[in-house]
Amino acid sequence: MAHNISILGSTGSIGTQTLEVVREIGGINVLAVTANSNIDLLEKQIREFRPKLAAVMDVKKADELAERIKDCETEVAGGMEGLVAAATIDGCDTVVTSVVGNIGIVPTFEAIKAGKDIALANKETLVSAGELIINAVKKYGVKIYPVDSEHSAIFQSLRGNEDNRIRRILLTASGGPFRGKTRDELVNMKAADALKHPNWHMGKKVTVDSATLMNKGLEVIEAKWLFGVDVEDIEVLVHPQSIVHSAVEYEDGAVIAQLGEPDMRLPIQYALTYPKRVKNSFPKIDFEQRNSITFEKPDTETFRCLSLAYKAIKCGGTMPAVMNGANERAVAAFLEDRIGFLDIADIIEKTMDSYNVKYDYSINDLVEADRWAAETADALIKAKEN
Ligand code: MN
Repeated sequence: MAHNISILGSTGSIGTQTLEVVREIGGINVLAVTANSNIDLLEKQIREFRPKLAAVMDVKKADELAERIKDCETEVAGGMEGLVAAATIDGCDTVVTSVVGNIGIVPTFEAIKAGKDIALANKETLVSAGELIINAVKKYGVKIYPVDSEHSAIFQSLRGNEDNRIRRILLTASGGPFRGKTRDELVNMKAADALKHPNWHMGKKVTVDSATLMNKGLEVIEAKWLFGVDVEDIEVLVHPQSIVHSAVEYEDGAVIAQLGEPDMRLPIQYALTYPKRVKNSFPKIDFEQRNSITFEKPDTETFRCLSLAYKAIKCGGTMPAVMNGANERAVAAFLEDRIGFLDIADIIEKTMDSYNVKYDYSINDLVEADRWAAETADALIKAKEN
């Protein structure tokens, strides 16, 4: 039976690779696609995959797209309403949440309520709303399949061990483009330097997050919610070759890991074909070439964002949402060369320090926490610029 999917954020890095997987393995119908504003690419995707619905966050662009694809049967919707329509579309089995940022929270929630399984690629959803999402997943009886390479590796390493206690999760990190650099060397780093990632080709936001190690911090929080472990039992291990995608250590000391070339199409494919493994033409590991794999401790004094993420999740409540909101603003400002690389952690820390955390909260409180964090971070960014 064909698998029907909806892709939120189909024009981004994970979205386009999801469509590559669809082309590669077949047997998957794309019912809906969405974009923030890139209607040129979205139009191409519509003409190739013939979805029932296309949504564009930018309402003006949605109108422009509707005009352009008059000859197609695809319906066009705009704004958050359109995104939610794509997330809840009739007949869809799995929603791939590959939008970037807090904007993914509401549509993911609506998809769960509509009984859809989630191929989760949007980190911010679990970081900010992990507790609410996991409760909803249980309540509505849906499944979450991780798309992120580390969580996919953990997910794969847990198979067959459902009744065994996890001793620790080893979450691997490439270390990003600035691995080994000192604070003095980092002061003058610009967006262009941070965007040169050695192993992975990803969107700009996640590439900067990877340079600050915030990406790993977000992944620690995601892993806590996805696998129900304490963050104290999640250890980040820098592994520059990005071959061991993460591992699980059990009580007896056995470590089960998943290895592969650094290629997101494999975890994306597994999230869509689970529990089956389907043949593809993607690159396979050549161990004679990949003959050295190394591990080291992360430098959390230089790359403070990782510590801030542990601090936020240990604090709990609405704090991770605030950390995440402040990070989004700080990364956006860094990408525009408005602040320096080390300012990113400063802005997040100051925003967190001036926040009164809430422990009894709803989705609306998270939206409000995000708004507050953005406003507070923006003011701190302005102050740095002057
Ligand atoms: Mn990752």
